[in-house]
Amino acid sequence: LLTIGVLALQGGFIEHINLVRKAADRLKLHVSVIEVRTAQELARCDGLIIPGGESTTISLVAAQSGLLEPLRDYVKVQKKPVWGTCAGLILLSDQANATKKGGQELIGGLGVRVHRNHFGRQTESFEADLDLAFLGDDAAPFPGVFIRAPVVEEVLGDGVSVLATLPGRLDRAAAGVSQANAKHGSGDIVAVRQGNVLGTSFHPELTGDARIHAWWLRSILGQ
Ligand code: GLN
Repeated sequence: LLTIGVLALQGGFIEHINLVRKAADRLKLHVSVIEVRTAQELARCDGLIIPGGESTTISLVAAQSGLLEPLRDYVKVQKKPVWGTCAGLILLSDQANATKKGGQELIGGLGVRVHRNHFGRQTESFEADLDLAFLGDDAAPFPGVFIRAPVVEEVLGDGVSVLATLPGRLDRAAAGVSQANAKHGSGDIVAVRQGNVLGTSFHPELTGDARIHAWWLRSILGQ
């Protein structure tokens, strides 16, 4: 039996829980999915998802709950499998740009610098079809949902693999990205992995498409 935790301090944790369950059903795996709010709950998990939301809030609540150090230990010392989506990616990065004065406490673990809110505001959210080679050569494009999303603006360390970039022919008008941001887009790094840590800029949990969740569960089992 595998126990998967979803950090449940703020943000879209329910959606992740539902999609982990869906992926486990597909794979016919016995997975128990728990909401993580304490170090004791974290210690029970074979893998952890950090959801999207507001990274400054998640970080503040984690600090107040005494969870920041246990999370850092889980990711960087115990090297357990951890996946962050959007705000979760920001928290798992070693460096973040465009943070408020004074910055925010990160968990770290991914040798990258992210740029927060890279595409602008909530109204500039968009969808883009992503080619995710790790899902298989003939996998259909994955619907990438980007909501005030970060991108990886620089890879800092060795051992970071880029798993996805935005497509070259992203139709910016159709995707709803404003002209003001037209310099961004093609080639932006939106998924990375370094050892046990996976980060995606987008929100698979908002699509109902459980393929990345299934792939991640299988990778935890080493299959
Ligand atoms: N912009 C948010 C942040 O900086 C992330 C947005 C999201 O998770 N959808 O934390």
